[in-house]
Amino acid sequence: MNPTPGQLQPAAPAPAAITTSKQPVEMVVERVVMELPDTKTIRLIWPQDYNPQFLTGQFITVSWPDTPKYRRAYSLSSCALDRGHFEITVKREGRMGTRMVDWAKEGDLLQVIRPAGKFLPVYDADKHLICIAGGSGVTPFRGFAREATSRGLSTRLTVLYSVRTTKDIIFHDEFREMEKRNPNLKFAVTCTRLEVDDPWEGRRGRLDVAWIREQVTDIGNAVFYACGPTPLVEFAEDLVVNHMAVPRAQLRTEIWG
Ligand SMILES: Cc1cc2nc3c(=O)[nH]c(=O)nc-3n(C[C@H](O)[C@H](O)[C@H](O)COP(=O)(O)OP(=O)(O)OC[C@H]3O[C@@H](n4cnc5c(N)ncnc54)[C@H](O)[C@@H]3O)c2cc1C
Repeated sequence: MNPTPGQLQPAAPAPAAITTSKQPVEMVVERVVMELPDTKTIRLIWPQDYNPQFLTGQFITVSWPDTPKYRRAYSLSSCALDRGHFEITVKREGRMGTRMVDWAKEGDLLQVIRPAGKFLPVYDADKHLICIAGGSGVTPFRGFAREATSRGLSTRLTVLYSVRTTKDIIFHDEFREMEKRNPNLKFAVTCTRLEVDDPWEGRRGRLDVAWIREQVTDIGNAVFYACGPTPLVEFAEDLVVNHMAVPRAQLRTEIWG
């Protein structure tokens, strides 16, 4: 029905109309940062009036305008408090990962489908989040730690990060910086393939039950997270559920395939 003259016109569609849709939205790459020689953080600027509701730990789905059907998911390495942009951190792996790391540059346009996913931090005061990551699987945990640190939360958060050598640690300085500001955050790294004479003073060897147990003081209030390629996530799940007898409900996983 048309409004009669003098009647208020219906309001323009709310910005949420854009952001609840699964339609891709074009975003400009504002900047790129090489975290490691094979790992790049890409910052995507939200278009005007884009105002999504989303949660730390979710992923966005990205494609290039020339191949719109070739879409891939990337966990947000930024957090829900970061407004105005998304950050993703991509390893040079597979077709899309290689293209993103080799090609994505400032000013490029990418198609982005709004954040989705249930790999969400439980920020209850009495919880202890044990976040197990291998290689690039650390990306969502940067978001977890960033939100907890910015909000001054008392939730304990321990990142157990397995890498081959010290040259493979993504976000090392950033996690150390957050640790200084957040007494409830611990960033613990283990290196699996260091030379014997390497000066690294931290832990060496694979992730194992003993190392995980050392971190946990109250198993009933621990929430375990594992993120990354399938072998790492399955390995972590086996350790936590089968070897530590933690109920499956206390473990959340994000498998990258
Ligand atoms: C929810 C979700 C979140 C993701 N978040 C990230 C992220 O934050 N950063 C990121 O780099 N990738 C992430 N990925 C993986 C990403 O979507 C792509 O699969 C990856 O970039 C490889 O591109 P491709 O699929 O075109 O490779 P393809 O040419 O199709 O080959 C895929 C192969 O690469 C392996 N693979 C995919 N990603 C990785 C990886 N990072 N490390 C080791 N092996 C891998 C797969 O097991 C498979 O064998 C995520 C995937 C999912 C489902």
